[in-house]
Amino acid sequence: MLLVLLWTLVIAVSTIQKQRLLDDGEKELVQLTSAVAQHATGMFRNAETALRLIDHWLQANPHIDPRSDARFAAMVDELRRASGGLIDPRMVSVDGHLFYIPSDRNQPPVDVRDRPYFQAQQDKGARKLYIGDPVLSRVTGKWGLPISWRLEKPVAGIQVVFAAIELDRLGALHDQMRIKPNGTVTFVRTDGITLSRTPFDTKLIGLDVSKSPFFKSDYGLKQRGTFISDGIVTDGVPRLISYERIADYPVTVLVTRGMADLFSLYEWRKRIVLMTSAFVTLLALGFTWLMQRSQRALQGAQDELRRMEATDSLTGVMSRRAFLELAQREISRARRYGRPAAVLVLDLDHFKRVNDTHGHAVGDTVLRGCAAAWTGVLREQDVLGRTGGEEFCAVLPEMPASMAGQAAERLRAAVSRLRFQGRAGEFSVTVSIGLTLASPDDSDFAQTMERADRALYQAKALGRDRVETVDAPPAAADGAAA
Ligand code: GH3
Ligand code: MG
Ligand code: MG
Repeated sequence: MLLVLLWTLVIAVSTIQKQRLLDDGEKELVQLTSAVAQHATGMFRNAETALRLIDHWLQANPHIDPRSDARFAAMVDELRRASGGLIDPRMVSVDGHLFYIPSDRNQPPVDVRDRPYFQAQQDKGARKLYIGDPVLSRVTGKWGLPISWRLEKPVAGIQVVFAAIELDRLGALHDQMRIKPNGTVTFVRTDGITLSRTPFDTKLIGLDVSKSPFFKSDYGLKQRGTFISDGIVTDGVPRLISYERIADYPVTVLVTRGMADLFSLYEWRKRIVLMTSAFVTLLALGFTWLMQRSQRALQGAQDELRRMEATDSLTGVMSRRAFLELAQREISRARRYGRPAAVLVLDLDHFKRVNDTHGHAVGDTVLRGCAAAWTGVLREQDVLGRTGGEEFCAVLPEMPASMAGQAAERLRAAVSRLRFQGRAGEFSVTVSIGLTLASPDDSDFAQTMERADRALYQAKALGRDRVETVDAPPAAADGAAA
């Protein structure tokens, strides 16, 4: 019962704990997402500011060549430093050639006409910042996120400026923010193109996730939210995912945490609780088993003791205590139903002499022999007990007064017929018997016994080897004999 309670409690508490851990983990992750989103907004805003500054500077100095002008190079350098090296501005000419700032004259021309960040700026609509697909630089061999801006008017053939955010630098920043070991930080453009992913995964960079179910149901649709993913689209690791669309720019940040990491503390705690509970259960079961075993042993010992106490070890008839108990019950019953019952006290004659003449052991044999003889004569329902050394007592239920004398006589005769082997040959013993009938007036069995004892005394006095009767007071005698 207690164990059922214990286990119910364990399961309930661990379920609640798991839910609470998930709730807490989710709250934490949402906060982290918000921090990453703010950082991202700041970064894109810095890039935009840097590009607008460059535009402004060039419009103000339309006659210099930005490929080689030292003052321009110094200004751009300052911007680079201000962004902590994250933002590296470059330029593209009207005919789609890429230039670094300042440009190395020996650098072979790099054609970027096919790049989306260049093409997007050919659309002659309103000028706006374009966050391009991630590109693997044809010059440095590194992944970069190009953010391009079209100059108000071309200056010395330069039409587009862009800031390349190096993904390994961004990754290093995000790596400090993510929840290790399985947490990730990802930028997805609102059209579903994956811009960055930390830890870095080439397979995911530039990947279009606009067809994935969670994009359609969650982060491609809503401003912010959380969901749990089995990780099938990415790397098979189940994660709790929190996302937030950043302010002002078409980017959504996704911050995740491995479900296993989230629950590792829980799993550990659960294991301890389970082990403790199992231990307690085993202990309780073992204890119960031991208790039951010792109880059974105790019960057996008690039964044996009771049996021993109820039986006289020498003669095998009832012990004094057991006899008195049973006799009391028999007499009560007889009185309750107005049934006749006879009570006899049997005392061997001159038994001291038997002992003296033949020894105690022979005396014991005589006692056993007499008890056996009486048991043979008595009926099934009669009760015989050894109440003293060589004194016995019997209750004969359903024994009317008219037949009680004969019954007692049969007991006496049974003893006188016995022959025992003594030191000086064969010998026999006799018994004196006091007889009375149970009376409804007797307050208890002791009172009935007292009459039988008086009858025995008379039998001894009148010469032994005989049956004497003491009747109950007249009115009672009628009732008992009825
Ligand atoms: P009576 O009853 O005829 O007056 O004489 P008695 O000799 O039987 O009288 P008493 O009651 O004085 O003596 C009983 C004797 O029974 C005393 C004791 O030595 C003997 N006795 C009692 N218990 C046992 C027993 O367990 N074994 C043996 N062998 N003798 C016993
Ligand atoms: Mg005697
Ligand atoms: Mg005696």
